[in-house]
Amino acid sequence: MVINLKQNKNFKLFKLVSAVAQQNNQSVYIVGGFVRDLLMKRQMPTDIDFVTESSGIYLAKKIAQEINPKLKVSVFKTYGTAMFKHNGLDLEFVGARKESYSEDSRKPSVETGTLEDDQKRRDFTINALAISLNKENFGELIDPFDGISDLQNKIIRTPLEPLQTYSDDPLRMMRAIRFAATLNFQIEENSLEAIKKEAERIKIVSMERIMVEFNKIMLSEKPSVGLKLMEQTGLLPLIIPELTALKGIEEVEGQTHKDNFWHTLEVVDNISKNTDNLWLRWAALLHDIGKAPTKKFDKKNGWTFHGHEFLGSKMVKNLFYRLKLPLGSDMKYVQKLVKLSSRPIALIDDGTSDSALRRLLFDSGEDLEDLFTLCKADITTKNSSKQEKFKKNFEYVAQKIKEVEEKDSIRNFQPPISGEEIMEMFNLQPSREIGILKEKVKEAILEGEITNDKEEARSFVIEEAKLLGLKIN
Ligand code: ATP
Repeated sequence: MVINLKQNKNFKLFKLVSAVAQQNNQSVYIVGGFVRDLLMKRQMPTDIDFVTESSGIYLAKKIAQEINPKLKVSVFKTYGTAMFKHNGLDLEFVGARKESYSEDSRKPSVETGTLEDDQKRRDFTINALAISLNKENFGELIDPFDGISDLQNKIIRTPLEPLQTYSDDPLRMMRAIRFAATLNFQIEENSLEAIKKEAERIKIVSMERIMVEFNKIMLSEKPSVGLKLMEQTGLLPLIIPELTALKGIEEVEGQTHKDNFWHTLEVVDNISKNTDNLWLRWAALLHDIGKAPTKKFDKKNGWTFHGHEFLGSKMVKNLFYRLKLPLGSDMKYVQKLVKLSSRPIALIDDGTSDSALRRLLFDSGEDLEDLFTLCKADITTKNSSKQEKFKKNFEYVAQKIKEVEEKDSIRNFQPPISGEEIMEMFNLQPSREIGILKEKVKEAILEGEITNDKEEARSFVIEEAKLLGLKIN
């Protein structure tokens, strides 16, 4: 089969690569994700991998020289690869290689090989497709493992024996699930079985690499597809056991609770319809993790999960640390949303007093909209009249919050009276009293005793200071 590359916007580049390779008596092929996405008519990737049955580094340098002698080529000697950027593309060149693995590492020992050796070492048949750029068969698809049929039938299959393939490099297990999830493909039966058998070997893969794949699953259209596969193959309990601990329904005295694992997956799918924000999706994934350790049953209250939001938000930090996810503002954002995740619902149940609304505004600040997005996604009842009721109640709370916000500007709360002003008013040095007075002002505003206004705050401070035995200057 010959692929017509003339239509491709990189045609000129391919011709140039072809010509330079020929001048240097080297073979050259496009390989991997670019070929897959080209045949699937997906959006063209911006990285293109080329293989040559000779030195990739030499060829990269020659091609870069031809394009622009000033182009900077990055060389990775240990991997025998070289890359450079051109017209917004990352072009990578590698010498065809043969790999063999040892038990305890996913880093193979490498020898030079033929194109077919190189195709064999690739993870999936759909990623092992190559297109020749050689003069004698320019554009010919080279597909020794019938990857084209797997592309058409939407199947993830390994070129070689699956057990060996996954055992050699267990990251491929995550990649199989990631491709299944993002491309909407099925993992072929033997592969799925092999992943189940080899799941434990994921432990030799660095957490950073696992998370790259995991986050691609989280950003897919329906993350539950990948998450379910991870659960089914036994990978999820090895990576995030806090999530699989939510699985199951217990019954005591005829009373049950919902299965919080399957509920969580639904919440993640729901939120993914409304946001591409990775960390908001993570907040949905983790919003109930505190439920497993706080679950209790007693005759009076039935099943309860008291304080699960608080514990859950504490768990977020350990989890992010273990998963090597960023520990800065993204983690804090997820923590905050987990902690607040039940508050809007509680507001609906308890009636919407202005002070409760002000407190929610104060605690959520600029993340209020995201909190609402999370809470809406959390409505997974199948009862449509209940769903309607919940949604209406939410709109009501949102409206009330808007009114309170307009009146008191709590969202980006700045104290109407500063510590320096208080010090000046009472001729004080920095001291505990100033902190106490500032806190009282904040509380009085949140409780609605005074409005967020400088004059009111001044009068209030004077009264409160008297109680502390302070005299105005
Ligand atoms: P995407 O760009 O969506 O991540 P990709 O297929 O281009 O897809 P890369 O990670 O850039 O993914 O890998 C490029 C190619 O290298 C793959 O198509 C595959 O042929 C090969 N490859 C990558 N990782 C592995 C692996 N762990 N084992 C075997 N082959 C791999």
